Amino acid sequence: MATPLTADRLLAALHAEGVTVVEHPGWRTHHRNHKGAWGPVNGVMIHHTVSSGSAASVALCRDGYAALPGPLCHGVIDKAGTVHLVSAGRANHAGGGDPAVLRRVTAEDYGDRPPAPRAHDGSTGAVDGNARFYGFECVNLGNGRDPWPTAQLDAIERASAAICRAHGWSARSVIGHSEWSAAKIDPRGFTMPSMRTRVTTRLAAPAKPPTKPTKPTQPSKPTQPAKPSNPTAPTSPTTPRYQPFPGASFFTARPSSPVITAMGRRLAAEGCGTYAVGPGPRWTEADRRSYAAWQRKLGFRGSEADGWPGRTSWNALKVPYTAKVP
Ligand SMILES: [Zn+2]
Repeated sequence: MATPLTADRLLAALHAEGVTVVEHPGWRTHHRNHKGAWGPVNGVMIHHTVSSGSAASVALCRDGYAALPGPLCHGVIDKAGTVHLVSAGRANHAGGGDPAVLRRVTAEDYGDRPPAPRAHDGSTGAVDGNARFYGFECVNLGNGRDPWPTAQLDAIERASAAICRAHGWSARSVIGHSEWSAAKIDPRGFTMPSMRTRVTTRLAAPAKPPTKPTKPTQPSKPTQPAKPSNPTAPTSPTTPRYQPFPGASFFTARPSSPVITAMGRRLAAEGCGTYAVGPGPRWTEADRRSYAAWQRKLGFRGSEADGWPGRTSWNALKVPYTAKVP
């Protein structure tokens, strides 16, 4: 039992665990606290969305629909492993569930799985799970065939561990919706015992923000092609792994910079590149169009997806460090 994390603490916990986070407009105050309790909290619940596409899934989970008003979770975890924050309070995700499950999750005293739930939303004695659980909706069709990419599973592991670490919980505080309600089947396509094993392993070590997990016995292998050597590039151990956001005016000045080439390569790797030639060092309209596709992939729309880089989308892109930008 614990007091829910504030929006700031939730965000800090996710960052500390190395989660790529996008804060969607208004997420800190978008909640259903006027409809019921938020807290004390006892765990984290994992769902699948039965939807596809980051933007559509984020919109659905933020707004909900007539019969189930949003927010429908705290964070949407997309297939690229980005966690989209849409709420920091009570959300419509868990519904009613089994009090026996809540007791075992709170005590963290079960084995592989909590007891099979017998209650569901609306059944006699069901407990209000929306007060008790953080919820992550993971983008997947839930048909058992839609794949769960490595990056997405990694983000589920990290986001769950972040909250457990912040509260001092073990991985037994992380359950699937199907483990809470007899009427639910999500998440489908991976098992919650396997995810709890991953979270347990992660929690055994200190939070490690910087990089993708690599086997400790092997040297880390760069995921990007080696950059041409640049004698002026800083080589001190404090060189960041990713290019810091150079500021909006850097782009609007239409620079010629290796940072733009590195950005274009990442956009192409994310399936957002619209380059006929390149990418190259000079900022062009193709860069802007490609970047707009990336913003839409993250769930931004309208003027927030105009192709001019902002800090949030830039950080999510993880452009390898190439050059110091004055
Ligand atoms: Zn669910």
